[in-house]
This record gives sequence, C-alpha cells and structure tokens, in this order.
Amino acid sequence: MPAPGELTFAAPRGAAMPPRHLADLSPAERREAMVALGERPFRAQQLSRHYFARYADDPADWTDVPAADRERLAGELLPRLMTVVRHASCDAGATRKTLWRLHDGTLVESVLMRYPDRITMCVSSQAGCGMNCPFCATGQAGLDRNLSTAEIVHQIVDGMRALRDGELAGEGLPDGEPARLSNVVFMGMGEPLANYRRVVGAIRRLTDPQPDGVGLSQRGVTVSTVGLVPAIHRLAREGLSCRLAVSLHAPDDELRDTLVPVNTRWKVREVLDAAWAYADASGRRISIEYALIRDVNDQAWRADLLGRLLRGRGAHVNLIPLNPTPGSKWTASRPEDERAFVAGLAAHGIPVTVRDTRGQEIDGACGQLAASARS
Ligand code: SAH
Repeated sequence: MPAPGELTFAAPRGAAMPPRHLADLSPAERREAMVALGERPFRAQQLSRHYFARYADDPADWTDVPAADRERLAGELLPRLMTVVRHASCDAGATRKTLWRLHDGTLVESVLMRYPDRITMCVSSQAGCGMNCPFCATGQAGLDRNLSTAEIVHQIVDGMRALRDGELAGEGLPDGEPARLSNVVFMGMGEPLANYRRVVGAIRRLTDPQPDGVGLSQRGVTVSTVGLVPAIHRLAREGLSCRLAVSLHAPDDELRDTLVPVNTRWKVREVLDAAWAYADASGRRISIEYALIRDVNDQAWRADLLGRLLRGRGAHVNLIPLNPTPGSKWTASRPEDERAFVAGLAAHGIPVTVRDTRGQEIDGACGQLAASARS
C-alpha cells in the first residue's frame, strides 16, 4: 500500500531503481551504514563533505580516507548513478540543458538558467510523468519510473559543480568565473508530489547545512504540482519554507478536467483550499502557474474568474506562453489576449508575471522536456 500522498496513477514501465547512494540517506542513516560496513561512524561525515560540499565523487580525491578503503566505500555509498549523454546550450550560453542516462538506461533532463540576479536549476523528479496533461511533452510519453532521492540530488550537485568550475556563461561575467546556484525548481520531468517521499528527502539533502547537505535555502526551492490534494496537505505538515506552485491552467472545472486530467479527482476549489493551507503553514505565498493557450483558456471572463478565486490570498500568477509540443493542435495566445488576461487579473489586484521562455531552441523550455520520447 502506498503511504498517503504517495500516489501512483499509472503503472511504471518496470525500469529498475538505482543502487543505494549516500544522498538517499539521512545523516544518522549514513553513520549506521558506515558501521554496517565495518567503518568508524565519522567516515560518514567525511564522505558527506566530499560529496555535498566539494562535489567530489571520485575516490581518488578523498585524501583523508585511507587509500585502501576508498574504492570499496565509493562502491558501497557513492555508486555512479547517471552519466551525461549530452549538453545543449542557448541564450548565449546562459541556459544549458543536460540529458542524463540513468543506470537502467532511462533518460531524464535538467536545465540550468543563469540570470543577472540569480541562477535557477529546473530538475526532474520522475522519468516521464503519469499526469497526462495534453499540452505537455513529458505527459505525452507516460511514466517510466520514479527517480530516487539521490538521482534528484545528483542533478543539482552536478549543476553546482559545473557552476563552481565556471562552465556556465553569464552576462557581464568573464568566462570561467565560479558561480553559485540560488534556486531549485521541481518543474522538470515528472509530478514531484507523486514521488512524495523521495522528493521530500531530496529537499532535505539540498537544504541541510553543509556537510550534511548542500546548504541551499529552503526559500529558494519551489515544488510545482498539478494539485494532488492529500500530498499538498502532507507537505504542509513537513515544516518546510519552500514555495509551492500550483499548475492551475483553468479556473473552472469543466476546462481544467481536460487540461489537467487529475482535476477529475480533485477539483479547483479543493486544490486552492489545499494551497491556502500550505501558505498558512509555510508562511510563503503560493504561485499559480497558468499556460496561456490560444482560444482555449485565455478568454477575459476566465481572467476575471481566476482573479475572483485568488483575490485577497496573496497568490502570484505566473503566465506561461504555451510552448507548442510536436504535433500539438494548440499554440500560445495572441499578444492582445495575453495583455487583456494580465489586465483582467491586475483589476483584482493580483500580482502577475509572464514567464520568459528560456531554452526554447534547445527544447529546454517549460513542458518541452521529453527525453525518452525523442531518443
Ligand atoms: N508536474 C509538475 C511540474 C511540471 S512542469 C506540474 O504540473 O506542476 C512545470 C510547469 O510547466 C507546469 O505548470 C506545467 O503545466 C507547465 N507546462 C507543461 N507543458 C507546457 C507547455 N507545453 N507550455 C507551457 N507550459 C507547460
């Protein structure tokens, strides 16, 4: 039986979970694992420092561990989980998409985006996705499997290593300048709350202070969901200060049932009530994601209805011009309809931004990540 919030909507296609890795374990579990391997418990912290603080997963670099033990400990606790198939860059080098091959051949993608004031990494929480939203490339391909906590964490650890080593260009920055990640968004492949336990484990690893974890701020982490109501309530009880983004895409159940099929199970009203409960528990404003689709969900009356649903809740709306996926019958809204939609929300005092479409030429923009479908 899955735990509450651990919801499976489609049978994964039988691909295998990876071997155990340091990043799957809490600090206490790492010490226990060391003892079980016949080692002194303090070695757990040594390895944690190498991995989470120095991004050094090559045992040759662990000079504080006896040379004779390094390979064995690496094999037991830092097995190679994934390899880079290729990188693709655009936006003058400030956006880089990575295609990863996991140990069982499964493919996933992550995207690193450098802005003047922040650096954001968009990570995958599942290989594929079972939510089946018809406008999303990942949704078209179905779910392969959940990612392990360490497979999620490693996307970020490798991104931080690349930034430290000056691999990502930045406006006004000399080439090769080290940089640091500020934000992580669970907006890559997958529905993070359908892989609940491993995603929360990844958030802990990413936000625990070094050397137990990577030391990122919880406030810089955003979990984006289609609206799995029991899992949102469960997340509210974790005591986290991460941001929650809700992919609404329609203010009315009739249309949302078709754009976000899980809406047939949890309605707009229930999803928003769960989001407000999360806002109360976390002290963070909710982000509402809304992909603007020409003549589908971009009418002025829907902006007005959305404004009325959100009024007074402190929520922020992020409008995403639809990125058409291959073979899609839909496209982005006309500029005048987009402007009218923004104005309709602003009339209710709702803060609105229109998402930039970073990474479009490398199929790295919102909803375009679909490695398994193309390879
Ligand atoms: N499963 C999570 C993360 C998905 S990706 C969720 O649904 O929230 C992050 C955002 O990109 C979601 O809001 C998703 O609906 C949106 N998105 C997916 N495909 C898109 C597309 N083709 N154009 C624009 N936005 C898209």
